[in-house]
Amino acid sequence: MADLSQKRVSVSKQVGSQRVLNFEEIEIGYTKEQAMEEAKRCLQCKTKPCVRNCPVHVHIPEFIAKVANGCFEEAYQLIRQSSSLPEVCGRVCPQEKQCEGHCVRGIKGESIAIGRLERFVADYHLLHTQASIVENNTSQHKVAIIGSGPAGLGCAQTLIDLGYQVTVLEAMHTIGGVLMYGIPQYRLPKTILEQRILHLKQQGVVFQTGIQVGKDISIDEMRKEYTAIFIGCGAGISNHLTLSNEHIQGIYDANSFLKICNLDDDNMRKKRLELQSKHHMVIIGGGNVAMDVSRCAKRLGIEEVSIVYRRSMDELPARKEEITEAIEEGISFCLLTNPLQAIANDKGEIQALECIQMELGDPDESGRRRPQVVEGSNFIMKVDALVVAIGSSVDPLLKLTTPELEVNEKGNIVTNENLQTSIPGIFAGGDAVTGPETVVKAMGAGIQAAHQIDLYIKQSIDTKG
Ligand code: FAD
Repeated sequence: MADLSQKRVSVSKQVGSQRVLNFEEIEIGYTKEQAMEEAKRCLQCKTKPCVRNCPVHVHIPEFIAKVANGCFEEAYQLIRQSSSLPEVCGRVCPQEKQCEGHCVRGIKGESIAIGRLERFVADYHLLHTQASIVENNTSQHKVAIIGSGPAGLGCAQTLIDLGYQVTVLEAMHTIGGVLMYGIPQYRLPKTILEQRILHLKQQGVVFQTGIQVGKDISIDEMRKEYTAIFIGCGAGISNHLTLSNEHIQGIYDANSFLKICNLDDDNMRKKRLELQSKHHMVIIGGGNVAMDVSRCAKRLGIEEVSIVYRRSMDELPARKEEITEAIEEGISFCLLTNPLQAIANDKGEIQALECIQMELGDPDESGRRRPQVVEGSNFIMKVDALVVAIGSSVDPLLKLTTPELEVNEKGNIVTNENLQTSIPGIFAGGDAVTGPETVVKAMGAGIQAAHQIDLYIKQSIDTKG
């Protein structure tokens, strides 16, 4: 019989005033006892709406039943059948829209804390299991992966499990894509990801960093060495506003700003020091990335941090939890406001932002009320740093250097239902195909592509043999 308490087992968290002073993880995570208690709330429904609404269909009730009985390693093995990054997904998945959002317990009380349980199981495994990791690259076939974000890592894990020789080519000097340079430490500690990468290396995955495909090596050259290629290059080029003066000093795009906060080389440390001398930062945009930027800015010690967004609080696209935590941390929200122009001082540095007030009109095609200018309502905000966080797109470099690679009107790579691109033997997945999405969807695409690559290689052998 399930424990019928309507509330979840709560978890310790750093309070707002304390957490803005550090980049440490906000939630402490369940203990063994707390995890078992929470797991006992699961009704083990036969219809499994949680599984249906998980993009990779993790065996949720089954792993939770194992947790309830204290069989944590068995729970881990069940999750790993569908996910190669449970320690990441347990922390950053938008569970309120996916598994937890459809949990039957959520109808009359709080849904089961599926994300926290997944995180607990994955962390317990990393801490307690000394599994001897053996090299697994027994196949003669070599597969290359472009990009080491969740799509690339999901693909690498599955291919190495299947025995292929796997090489990941990564443009940056750090492995992990957005997981490493974008999502802040306080939501996803880097040590967690580093352990996953270490395991992949121990299994035989080769990572070559600082290699930008399309510049340092072409896809055509790679095709001579590799039987198949997976493109998981993400959508990492920040979109720009059409602000006049957008190129004056002190204006950053969201990805560049987050790299300064998250990466630890000399150049980034120097830029971090420069940012720490700022007093008032404005972030343009209202999505999750804007929340990450604003909360990192506070942690760097910038006194006044404001979000500028052209609609109202109700339309803010960021997760509710992120907005609440940002407010707790002292971020201010300048809503129904649109930026017009950045104003520079005589040294060419930003000193102010001219804005105009907006009001909401009739709904547009997206169903959200369209913001309209309130004529004559211009005003000036004092700022010494500005970050533009209004979405991102796929880098056109691969298309420019490989013209036969088909892309759509947004620049996203086009694939068929098997995730194969317009070039036989070249597969793609993650944000590079869908545009900005989620970690779990990118990882799921990487896993699916790996299985398709396996089929493709086996079919090529059959045809030749
Ligand atoms: P990426 O993670 O972007 O990785 C692509 C990699 O390819 C990068 O390392 C890049 O350097 C490399 N690359 C690009 N071009 C080349 C080339 N030519 N040669 C070699 N390497 C190349 N999703 C969630 O589910 N939950 C969250 O909380 C969340 N928070 C986010 C916060 C931020 C700040 C951002 C930006 C995104 C967030 N997302 C979140 C979205 C999620 O991170 C992405 O959907 C996911 O990372 C996409 O994975 P990917 O592997 O397709 O691409």
